[in-house]
Amino acid sequence: MKLHNKVCIVTGAASGIGLGIARRFVAEGARVAIADLNGDAAAKAAADLNAAGPGAAMALTMDVTSEDAVNAGVAQVVAQWGTVDVLVSNAGVQIVNPVEQFAYADWKKMLAIHLDGAFLTSKAVLPHMYAQGSGTVLFMGSVHSKLASPLKSAYVTAKHGLMGLARTLTKEGGTKGLRVNVICPGFVRTPLVDKQIPEQAAELGISEEEVVKKVMLGQTVDGEFTSIEDIAEVALFFAAFPTNALTGQSLIASHGWCME
Ligand code: NAD
Repeated sequence: MKLHNKVCIVTGAASGIGLGIARRFVAEGARVAIADLNGDAAAKAAADLNAAGPGAAMALTMDVTSEDAVNAGVAQVVAQWGTVDVLVSNAGVQIVNPVEQFAYADWKKMLAIHLDGAFLTSKAVLPHMYAQGSGTVLFMGSVHSKLASPLKSAYVTAKHGLMGLARTLTKEGGTKGLRVNVICPGFVRTPLVDKQIPEQAAELGISEEEVVKKVMLGQTVDGEFTSIEDIAEVALFFAAFPTNALTGQSLIASHGWCME
């Protein structure tokens, strides 16, 4: 068991990639708090995980853009399980539009969920990690932490911004046992991606099939989606890495779409 008794918080874990990471972590012996805006879905996910391993999961209704909600959720985890060993800041949404049509409210919402969410959850867990002299923070970046695509100004800006926050945290926490890394997936077939297929088709004036084949997978080496399990494996690799050597890094898993 690579994460035996490790206390983990995964935001946005009621769906998609976050849920896959929570499942993988529990299978490796971790206790995982499923923190999500959608409290009902978080409760269902936690119940499913507890059916397989009683006591393995708890649900937290958490809006990662609310400092009070984040602090209350982290306090609940510490009260119940004693500490926090791993944070996966994963909650995210996508809104596509060209800049001249991008509503300012949507821009602010995107930056808040991706960047404020990463900042607030990190800020809340750091005292516990520093107190015990160890901890891992993982940010869910994207290929869009490295590259840009049309229609995704706020998303690309936010995902690039996570790199800066991760590198700063890496330097601040280096002598306190903190490790910080960024996971950068290519396209993964989740509700977030399913929603944008018709939206991109309408914006670009092409079919949904072309969006998938050309826009999403056209630059991969094999025309395949990255899977939830692929990303959960990367998260496990970072979370279970045995020393502080692996910090301040970002790892792209995108079927060769983006290479560096
Ligand atoms: P998803 O829609 O399946 O899951 C996102 C989850 O985040 C949902 O459960 C949603 O309720 C939750 N959420 C949204 N706003 C929230 C908030 N304010 N507070 C708490 N929870 C909130 O999406 P996904 O594809 O699994 O995306 C997860 C992360 O992976 C996101 O950060 C996304 O940007 C990133 N990502 C996804 C892909 C992809 O292709 N799917 C690629 C690269 C990166």
